Amino acid sequence: MISITFPQESIMSSIKQNIEQVISQITSSTEKCGRTADSVQLLAVSKTKPIAAIDDAIAVGQRAFGENYVQEGVEKVQHFAGHAQAEEIVWHFIGPIQSNKTRPIAEHFDWVHSVDRIKTARRLNEQRPSSMAPLNILLQVNTSGEESKSGIHVTDLAALADEIATMPNLVLRGLMSIPQKADSYDSQYAAFKLLADAQQQLHIKYPQIDTLSMGMSGDMDAAIAAGSTIVRIGTAIFGARDYT
Ligand SMILES: *Cc1c(COP(=O)(O)O)cnc(C)c1O
Repeated sequence: MISITFPQESIMSSIKQNIEQVISQITSSTEKCGRTADSVQLLAVSKTKPIAAIDDAIAVGQRAFGENYVQEGVEKVQHFAGHAQAEEIVWHFIGPIQSNKTRPIAEHFDWVHSVDRIKTARRLNEQRPSSMAPLNILLQVNTSGEESKSGIHVTDLAALADEIATMPNLVLRGLMSIPQKADSYDSQYAAFKLLADAQQQLHIKYPQIDTLSMGMSGDMDAAIAAGSTIVRIGTAIFGARDYT
């Protein structure tokens, strides 16, 4: 737990300041390209961070959280089910998905950003309890063409979207990408624009597609200019992660 080294109050105020800082960055990025600040949602990536850190973020008004690891994420969802603001808290699964781990994701999360194969979509659809709202799905796209990275290719999107459209317990909401690190604004923008163009194509056939999860701390400006509607920010809110 972080609170061994810092008094709780100072962590809380730094999370508050960090969130305010990120929100003001989002606001200035949206102003630069003529968008409204509320057209971009801040997803606070809380992976590896303790319950107390999420509590502090909730206390200052943050409601959307992203988790990468199934067991850890499920524990947090269950913990916060008893919270006074539980109804407003929205949980996004953003990590790689092993096909034998789909059930807890389907049973606990509101959004999944990292669907990149039909098998995963089928399992999530079968395992999503019909008593819950349909699971919001983003398809993870590999825009940089590297063989090693997860994500489907743009050319395979339409077929996967058509299959998901037949699944009653899923609703396809858009696309997500984690582009290769690029230092220049222009190359960041080019990768994000590719995703935005692919989303616009899909939107013609599937009007409920309205979400683009793209942009992190280092490339938020370019992502927002290209049309991002969700930016995923971890370290700039909660500090560096400790994986030891
Ligand atoms: C961890 C993670 C983030 C947040 O990264 P930071 O560098 O901590 O802001 C965003 N998106 C995905 C998919 C991640 O796994």
